[in-house]
Amino acid sequence: MSRFWSPLVKQLTPYVAGEQARLPDLVKLNTNENPYGPAPEVLAAIAHANADDLRLYPDPAASALRRVIAAHHGVQADQVFVGNGSDEVLAHAFHALFQHGLPVLMPDVSYSFYPVYCRLYGIPHELVPLKADFCLDVQDYARPAGQVGGVVLANPNAPTGIALPLADIEALLRLHPDRVVLVDEAYVDFGGESAASLIARHPHLLVVQTLSKSRGLAGLRVGYALGSVELIEGLARVKDSFNSYPLDRLAQAGAVASFGADAYFRQTCARVMQSRERLSAGLRELGFQVLPSAANFVFATHPGQDAGELAQRLRAQAILVRHFKLPRIDQFLRISVGTDAECGRLLGALNTITRSS
Ligand code: PMP
Repeated sequence: MSRFWSPLVKQLTPYVAGEQARLPDLVKLNTNENPYGPAPEVLAAIAHANADDLRLYPDPAASALRRVIAAHHGVQADQVFVGNGSDEVLAHAFHALFQHGLPVLMPDVSYSFYPVYCRLYGIPHELVPLKADFCLDVQDYARPAGQVGGVVLANPNAPTGIALPLADIEALLRLHPDRVVLVDEAYVDFGGESAASLIARHPHLLVVQTLSKSRGLAGLRVGYALGSVELIEGLARVKDSFNSYPLDRLAQAGAVASFGADAYFRQTCARVMQSRERLSAGLRELGFQVLPSAANFVFATHPGQDAGELAQRLRAQAILVRHFKLPRIDQFLRISVGTDAECGRLLGALNTITRSS
């Protein structure tokens, strides 16, 4: 606490990202990075940079990248907004679209950055409990007209990995025709169904995606939103009142190249999904309950083991997984899907731990 901080800053509780440890022989399964990294074309595009690429400011509108993303999703370039990671896109969306003085609805178990943005921007929010099995019932989001500031959810959800069918997203859109429904699809390429196809019919739908997970580019910091021209314009107004150049030239060039490497993208996503099924089966054999995942991580609990202790004991062996000390989920571990070799090391370590106690 400092007397120089503004009252707002004094009452913030910032989001805590997963640890970026540097340990020898590390198995890093704690922040849902992609074990295969980006397509070789991405590295080539970045390596091609010259002095002007660093001397000059980048295109503030990232026009080439937005055209490529638009073509990938079958929308127009003015229906695409890009930002420095989808975290920044989400922040601008909360700022631009959710400040109505009414509570924004979100699942009680979801991406824990959403309440952080709410506090930053003074947006009230209401946590809507997921069912006992962590599934979402759209009817729980019904409210009398004029009492909701917006709806945000992740699909597939994080940290559960559970996907919601598109029919349910559409039902949610029908419940709140006058407020923005934000669907965060950070993990959609690993088996979810994108709501991008619903944008043409629903001007209040904002779909957010990222290159961090399925395109192996967490370090490049590129995320984007798809929606009606009016929503995208709202985001651009906030961005241009905040930072004109959120994406540097290397990020724009690398991201464009990633969308040109479709075969690599599909193959690496398929490999992650295959490893996910093997990892889930291996965990179940060790007595874990594993939620059905459509993401690049699994969410698992063991009836005879404390999840926090398990995470500690794995860490002692240089294996990082994510444990959240949060209501309802403090006995779960979120385990990113690594290579089969990495998953094998995790399962071996868990085998030893669970048998010795
Ligand atoms: N949404 C969800 C649900 C996430 O889990 C993450 C990753 N922490 C993000 C958004 C942000 O990802 P990025 O900023 O790397 O695009």
